[in-house]
Amino acid sequence: MKKGIAASKGYAIGQAIIKENREVSIVERRIENVQAEKERLDKAINNSRNQLVKIKEKAEKELGSDKAAVFESHIMLLDDPEFTGAVAMNIESNKVNAEKALSDVIEMYMGIFASMEDEYMRERAADVKDVGNRILANLAGNGADDLENLNENTIIVAHDLTPSDTAQLDRSKVVGFITNIGGRTSHSAIMARTLEIPAVVGLKDITENVKNGDTVIVDGEEGIVLINPDEATIAKYKEKKAAYEKEREELKKLINVKTVTKSGKHVEVAGNIGKPEDIHQVLENGGDGVGLFRTEFLYMDRDEMPSEEEQFEAYKYVAEKAEGRPIVIRTLDIGGDKKLPYLPLPEEMNPFLGYRAIRLCLDRKEIFKIQLRALLRASVFGNIKIMFPMISSLEEFLAAKDVLKECMNELRSEGKDFNENLEVGMMVEIPAAAVCADELAKHVDFFSIGTNDLIQYTLAADRMNEKVSYLYNPHHPAVLRLIKMTIDAAHKEGKWCGMCGEAAGDESMIPILVEYGLDEFSMSATSILKAKQIIMNN
Ligand code: PEP
Ligand code: MG
Repeated sequence: MKKGIAASKGYAIGQAIIKENREVSIVERRIENVQAEKERLDKAINNSRNQLVKIKEKAEKELGSDKAAVFESHIMLLDDPEFTGAVAMNIESNKVNAEKALSDVIEMYMGIFASMEDEYMRERAADVKDVGNRILANLAGNGADDLENLNENTIIVAHDLTPSDTAQLDRSKVVGFITNIGGRTSHSAIMARTLEIPAVVGLKDITENVKNGDTVIVDGEEGIVLINPDEATIAKYKEKKAAYEKEREELKKLINVKTVTKSGKHVEVAGNIGKPEDIHQVLENGGDGVGLFRTEFLYMDRDEMPSEEEQFEAYKYVAEKAEGRPIVIRTLDIGGDKKLPYLPLPEEMNPFLGYRAIRLCLDRKEIFKIQLRALLRASVFGNIKIMFPMISSLEEFLAAKDVLKECMNELRSEGKDFNENLEVGMMVEIPAAAVCADELAKHVDFFSIGTNDLIQYTLAADRMNEKVSYLYNPHHPAVLRLIKMTIDAAHKEGKWCGMCGEAAGDESMIPILVEYGLDEFSMSATSILKAKQIIMNN
């Protein structure tokens, strides 16, 4: 039995598949036998080719030949003398192991491509990295599995899953996942909750304790993983799983019930979404709307920025499906643990304190404006509200609003419609914003407290780091005071205050938040019904 951090509720029983750590750290070795090392490389290239051919065939069948073309170019890269040829030469001339020779070549290409202006060439950088990582995984002897070809009842075992890895998981096959690193509020955990896949993270060395094909139980309630349990344990967990599913079934009675606290206050219980289609799950779970649309997921898993038109369609879709319910759409929050393959950003010592979210958007206005125009245009199709992330000062909020006004003026002169009265609010997720909430409240239409970041910045405890997860505590008095200050400040100016961090769906936090007078709770769709029940009892 292994204990980790419960990241997504529910129970899963299935067979383990180890997902290779694609970002393996490279150890340099000097080698004597050049020929043998080149043969190792050739074998890894051949294995990579076999895998890619399979993936390409599957993609052709399921996605069409245009989508499959990328794998053809990956296969061609395997035979490219400038790439794999250069690796072999590197082994020969520097007498280093294949891993080191390959990673040097990848790095060289990444350096060259990343500095190029040309979109196409930058995409090639992502291809080289992807193919290179595949060969590296095969050199390590664990490249055969891929998230694309899975059996039913699979439990993914990984060092870590990136948010986009998680977003791609096929729910009909993957019943659970477990990882070495990560915390409850890392984005892969959040995605797992959205997908309703039970998950335990922060297990430290689970990839070393589980083998492919092992039977694994994931207990997403207690944060426990059991490896090759006996029949009696499996039977016990089957019962727990059935009871859990029954409780979920019973909570469904609350789907159409208005959420009113014991003292008679009506509060909204909304859902957090990452993709437009997630709105369905929110509505099916009785959500009063969307309290956080993390739009950065629209920018992931692709080769280029989504255009204004594409974004407009996505926002319009959500607005229409919500049928008048409020939809809070947060502008791009990239950086931190969320990266875009086609937007190379400088490596930073402290990405969570760095160039991210509104900071990046105010610096790269051309990117920001595309999104704001799309949002404004979609605002006539429903009850859209715009929210800026990572605001640390009034100046920053006003600067973001200025860009929004610029977009409004442009649209007016182009004769394009938008909702002139749309609400514009901000996330309170930096302690400075909570402390200055009284000033900010005069200028915003609403606040939404982002406890995921607020806690990590207040307590100086990385939300992704399982080693300090014991410090990461929403009940810390400093965090509670900042939350209360923010709610009070909003109310003093007659504004509403919501919360879209994970604490809003935390069963132990809800009674406190009700007492503080929080107006809106936004959370993973699967937590909505339970939260409604608790709010009504408080
Ligand atoms: C937060 O920080 O609480 C939040 C909701 O934003 P994210 O988790 O996307 O950083
Ligand atoms: Mg945040």
